[in-house]
Amino acid sequence: MGRGKPLQDDAARDRIRGAGLRCTPARVAVLHHLETAAGPLTHAEVSDSLHHLGFDRATIYRNLTELTEAGLASRVELGDHVWRFEAKRAGGGHKGDDHPHFVCTTCGEVSCLEDVQVAITPRAAAGKGAKRARGRIGSVTEVLLKGRCEQCD
Ligand SMILES: [Zn+2]
Ligand SMILES: [Zn+2]
Repeated sequence: MGRGKPLQDDAARDRIRGAGLRCTPARVAVLHHLETAAGPLTHAEVSDSLHHLGFDRATIYRNLTELTEAGLASRVELGDHVWRFEAKRAGGGHKGDDHPHFVCTTCGEVSCLEDVQVAITPRAAAGKGAKRARGRIGSVTEVLLKGRCEQCD
């Protein structure tokens, strides 16, 4: 994905300690898994991937929640009422935590768009519609793009 060198388990450990949490094997595995993923993952996806390490779904869920509360991960909801979790990027120069997501409507793959910026710009012509739309937006917390991914297009 060209996002720089892959993070090692050690980096995950440092960040967990830095957030004041204990480094349990499950917590390190969950954070490391999120950090190496190409996009946000559901609880079920993380559970499936880490099942072979002997962690049950409840343990994975508890750790996802704890990492989120500690600020090491964030939760996103992409319109299908399923929470997905992703690691917050460590000190990435740009606004790494505030990126749009792209969902493929054919295969369901979710990816992070960390190198693009989406701006909402009101149209210059102030028709009735534009006025109303502008008044309705308080603050945008999530930008979601839908379409077909390269594989499906
Ligand atoms: Zn696709
Ligand atoms: Zn993302």
